[in-house]
Parts: sequence; C-alpha cells; structure tokens
Amino acid sequence: MEIANFAVLRRRLGCERSALLSSLVSERIGRVAPMASIAILGRTQLSCCFRDTDAEAIDKRIEAIERAFQQPFIVDDQTMTVALTFGGATAPDAHVDEVALVEQAESALAEARIAYRAITHAVPARARLDTVRTARELDTAIEQDQLVLHYQPKVHVRRQEITSAEALVRWRHPTRGLVMPNDFIPVAEECHLIDRMTLWTIRRAIADQRDLAARGHDLRLFINIAGQLLADDAFVREACDLVGGSDARLGFEITETSVIRDPASAIANLQTFADFGITIAIDDYGAGLSSLAYLKQLPARELKIDKLFVTQLTSSNRDPLIVRSTIDLAHALEMEVVAEGVETHAALALLTVMGCDMVQGFLISRPVVLESFIQYLDEGRHRAPAPDPLAAFAGFAANRRGR
Ligand code: C2E
Ligand code: CA
Ligand code: CA
Repeated sequence: MEIANFAVLRRRLGCERSALLSSLVSERIGRVAPMASIAILGRTQLSCCFRDTDAEAIDKRIEAIERAFQQPFIVDDQTMTVALTFGGATAPDAHVDEVALVEQAESALAEARIAYRAITHAVPARARLDTVRTARELDTAIEQDQLVLHYQPKVHVRRQEITSAEALVRWRHPTRGLVMPNDFIPVAEECHLIDRMTLWTIRRAIADQRDLAARGHDLRLFINIAGQLLADDAFVREACDLVGGSDARLGFEITETSVIRDPASAIANLQTFADFGITIAIDDYGAGLSSLAYLKQLPARELKIDKLFVTQLTSSNRDPLIVRSTIDLAHALEMEVVAEGVETHAALALLTVMGCDMVQGFLISRPVVLESFIQYLDEGRHRAPAPDPLAAFAGFAANRRGR
C-alpha cells in the first residue's frame, strides 16, 4: 500500500516529520489487523501479508484497513487524513512463489495509482499457474504440429478477385479442442514462445503456398507478427533465412503500437523484411496508438482499418468519417487500404464508394482450413463471369457459413 496524499502531508508537516508517517500508518494497521506481518518499505510504501483460508478474505481485510483510515491522525496538533492506495495479490498456500506474489502486488499498485483507484487486485496467482501450464503445453504443441493455419481471403474490390489471404493460427489441443489465438498468443508472448511459434507459422505458410500454387492459385499469404519480434534480431534473421531460401510471396501484418515501442530498430527490421520481398501491412489501424510521424516512415504497402470501425460503419455517425479520412490518408501515402471485419452488404457498399481497395470479413469468408480454402477458390473461379462477382462471393460465403 502507498500513502496517496504524501506530498500534501509533507507540505504541512515538513520533511522530517513526514518521514514518520509510515510508522504511524504501520501502527494503525497493526491495531486493525494484529495477525498481519507489516513492513515499512519507504517513506510512502508499506507491505502487509495475511494468511487466510479463503482468497476473498483479502477484500474484507482491506475494507477494514480503509475504514480505520477514515479516522484522522493528529500530528503536532494538526488533524490530517492519510489516504491509502492498495495493490493486492493472492496465491494458494501450497504454491506460493513469494517473489511472483510481491511483483503482482506491485504491478496492481502501479495500476491502482494510474487509474486513481483505491484498490486493485493482480490477476490471482492461480491464473499464473494456468499460464505456466499453457506455456508448457504450447511448447509441445509447436514441436508436435498441433497448430494449424486457417486462411481468410482478402478481396480486391476494383479487380474483383482474391489477391491474398491472411493466415490465422489455431491450436488443436488434445483435450481442449480448437483453441483460438486470443487464448494462447498472450501466453506465447509472455513466455517467449512467440518466436518459435511464428517461425513455425512462416514455414507452414510457405508449404501451404506451394500447395496453393500447385492447385493453380497464386496468392500472397499474410502472417501476423507480434510487436516484440520486431526488436528481436535473431528472429528477424531466421525469418529472412526462411523467406530468402524459398520462392515464397509473403506479407507480414504488424501493428503500429509495436513500432512505437522501439521505433529505430523496428523500422530498420521492417525495411529488412521489405528488402526480402515481404509486403508489410499495418494491422488494426485506429485501434491503438497512432502516430503520423511513424506512419510516414514505415515501408508499409497496406493499411488495414481495424474491424471495430468497420463493423460499426453503418450504425455510427463518427466511424464513416474516420474510415473515409483514413482511406484518403493511406492513399496519399501510396498505401492500399484493407477493411477487415466486413460483415454486411451495407458496409461493403459504403466501403466501395469510399474507395477502399480491399475487403476481408465474414461476409466474404470466415477463416477456413487450407483444403476448404482451395475448394472455395476453385468454386469461386468456376462461378465467373458473374454480373457482380462480389455479390457472388458474398452469396457463396452465406452458403458456406457453418461448414
Ligand atoms: P487480427 O489480426 O485482427 O485478425 C482478425 C481476427 O478477426 C481473426 O480472429 C478473424 O477470425 C476475425 N474476423 C475476420 N473477419 C471478421 C468479421 O467479419 N467480423 C468479426 N467480428 N471478426 C472477424 P482470430 O483468428 O481469432 O484472431 C485473433 C487475433 O489473434 C488476430 O487478430 C491476431 O492479432 C492474433 N493472431 C492470429 N494468428 C496469429 C499468428 O499467427 N501470430 C500472431 N502473432 N498473432 C496471431
Ligand atoms: Ca491481422
Ligand atoms: Ca486486424
């Protein structure tokens, strides 16, 4: 916990006397919670450790302390209230990793401080155990080819053809069934498995692209590249070796946020990828941090408008304006624009009028396994010449839903 109004109190008490505040706080907590072990960490911070039989007890403990601090202190005949901010973490007794627990409480405190909230709890340490288990299983999954890529086409609106597809990873888990990326990519990133996983993805996409070409479909395949990999020189080298050693036509989707972290090395590495013939696309544009300064410097050829703006395109007043100006901006920077998350004919029509170059979304096709994707491409080709091939794609997508 932290004395949130320390600066104000120091102004009233002076430096020397304010240094005693933490011991006053410690004494009062000791009275409310005699079983706790309390330590003074500095002028403003204290730690407090409880052993309880149930994890929720920590809430009651903190409430009791908070109540006790509604009562003012009297120092040098002055009345003053000490405001506390709390960060908490719990772990089952049998599995206490003390350092991890303290670190979680510290980051909960940092969060509480930023959010001006009185109390924040870290993710319970039980979740930490799940992460460790998932990471261990994922390690095996990469080794044993339990991962699989699903492909979702991008349709070029004016040319009315499928020019590329995005590879989206899934995990065929032996007991949990098909696990979606949002449930394991964060673990892969945290536990440093993301580099191996992504190299697997690149190898798989290169092989799948050969299969596609052999069946008469020459498409560029896009892979999602996590931000932290743009600062990983070993990954960049290995990825370039894989791509350079093949005749693959790949694209990498990266978010702007990942560039902002370490712009110099990210931009240099993106340029290396571009030099290897890899098309760079900016993913989720508009969803995170955006910086026009970096946008101009990136060797990107495509800008993907985040699906959040696209799914609300026809129901919101503001989003069409954002989409329209993003399209114009990208064109001014000589980039092509992809709208992702196209789910309705109305959105497709509006995007077409706005000059959007490519569309991707459930309306056209959900992400599907390679064999279904090839079948989709085969059947799509045989449907030409349709009066409105996009409508044909859309109708086709509707028929396939649920397959
Ligand atoms: P993303 O790159 O933004 O991928 C698009 C996500 O939107 C996919 O979810 C896709 O299934 C979904 N989507 C496609 N069309 C529509 C639509 O019309 N409406 C809606 N509501 N959603 C649509 P998915 O496959 O669950 O992937 C989630 C995220 O996981 C991806 O977001 C990407 O950030 C990450 N991811 C997936 N594969 C990889 C990978 O191989 N490596 C890395 N690093 N990240 C990956
Ligand atoms: Ca993507
Ligand atoms: Ca995206």
